[in-house]
Amino acid sequence: MEREVRVRFAPSPTGALHIGGVRTALYNYLFAKKTNGKFIIRIEDTDQTRYVEGAEEYIMKSLEWLGITPDESPLIGGDCKPYRQSERKPMYKQYAMQLIEEGKAYYAFDTAEELDAMRQRLEKAKVKNPSYNAVTRTQMKNSLTLPADEVKARLESGEPYVIRIKIPKKEEIRLNDLIRGWVMVHSSTLDDKVLMKSDGMPTYHLANVVDDYLMKITHVIRGEEWLPSAPLHVLLYQYLGWENVMPRFAHLPLLLNPDGKGKLSKRKAKEYGFPVFPLEWKEIDENSKEEIWLPGYKEQGYLPEALLNFLALLGWSPGTNQEIFGIDEMIENFSLERINKAGVKFDIDKAKWFNQQYLRTKSNAELAQYLQAGLKENNVLSAPLTSEKAEKIAELMKERATFPQDFWKEALYLFQTPTEYNEALQQKWTPEVAQVLQEYLKELQNTTIDWNAEEIKHLLHQITDQLQIKIGKVMAAIRIVITGVTAGPDLMMIQEIIGKEELLQRIKNGLAQFHTTTA
Ligand code: GLU
Repeated sequence: MEREVRVRFAPSPTGALHIGGVRTALYNYLFAKKTNGKFIIRIEDTDQTRYVEGAEEYIMKSLEWLGITPDESPLIGGDCKPYRQSERKPMYKQYAMQLIEEGKAYYAFDTAEELDAMRQRLEKAKVKNPSYNAVTRTQMKNSLTLPADEVKARLESGEPYVIRIKIPKKEEIRLNDLIRGWVMVHSSTLDDKVLMKSDGMPTYHLANVVDDYLMKITHVIRGEEWLPSAPLHVLLYQYLGWENVMPRFAHLPLLLNPDGKGKLSKRKAKEYGFPVFPLEWKEIDENSKEEIWLPGYKEQGYLPEALLNFLALLGWSPGTNQEIFGIDEMIENFSLERINKAGVKFDIDKAKWFNQQYLRTKSNAELAQYLQAGLKENNVLSAPLTSEKAEKIAELMKERATFPQDFWKEALYLFQTPTEYNEALQQKWTPEVAQVLQEYLKELQNTTIDWNAEEIKHLLHQITDQLQIKIGKVMAAIRIVITGVTAGPDLMMIQEIIGKEELLQRIKNGLAQFHTTTA
């Protein structure tokens, strides 16, 4: 019988959730939903030296913001609870003892100094990658070299010890990765990894395998950085007699820095000016030792659905040219077979493009909310705009916005009279511009037109036609006079929105400013 698909995202609470981790969580989630399986979150907190306060909460909050909802987790529980490894200590001990009894693991009593001495000795003898392994273990202090009664005495006296796996000397370990195909490793290249530490906590390797077994995990979907650990995990499944229920492995391609060099790092992301965390995060800066605030994707204005779409395509390809995938479509089209092996360059411009696309699908009423919020937060106006006006502005600015906050920023000149015109105006200014503006001012003062973009356009054309000036030659300067900037949306709509009085003022300012600067 086919087993129910059960996958897990197993972050360690050692800091904020990295964007690469978000992609891993997303792929697990998509696969679970696609196969009607279960998506589980397990917190791997056995390394107490790396534990960071608030990290678990941060991880859960980030996934919640993105809508990557688990079926089982430390917060909602489930049949395989607890979902925090630090709360599962006795389970690991039991299996470590089983391995010892069966001669597949052993106690080791070596002190830090003794381990250091061994390493130095091997380095001197020019041994590559010195390690505690099938050869060197014979010279160390462990339950394979010490007499049984001494081992017993040491254990009874409470001497600190670790439990190490006994790696076979000459064996080929094979695994068939769903993305990478067959991976083969010779056991002589592996070391006798610690399974239980002297503090009584399991290491990642033991806890990970035991939990995947107990939680009935069918597929391990995780980052490529864990591929080197996979043979050890396979061996543990064999040693524990769980080979028949061993999960399938799928190691995801690395996310690379934008220049294609190396794994995406916080430092490089900072250099390129984009976040590596989904939500804001405070941490101590390594160099200055001061607390620094790092904005996340959320704070920078990324929409969760856009970020998910962007991440989905970082390593997975649907096999068509389609790029926009809502979450349901992602689920429908997702398959592990279509994940690429090669590392993927992180292209933040693509993320921005997705954000833009998703922003454009929103209604003017929704976009108007962004505008109103931005104006309020930044104290631009004393009272909110009418919703009619806000929607009109949102509609106008829509094509130019990448982020929600662009609405108020891009629209600022609608509310603030430009006071200074940059050099651009001087470059564009010609006697024709002055002529058109003077005429325009006069006409606006003397005639009444219906105040809408259509009529305004008509009037301006009439004036330029009469003066026999090509409108295209003066528009750039007129735009700067009216808005203070060189580019923007439809200028006729801008005039409609700012209103006649304000327009008159701006034209007067422009004419005056130019005359003073060129006089
Ligand atoms: N705790 C590991 C991590 O932090 C999980 C690796 C795995 O999924 O096996 O990434």
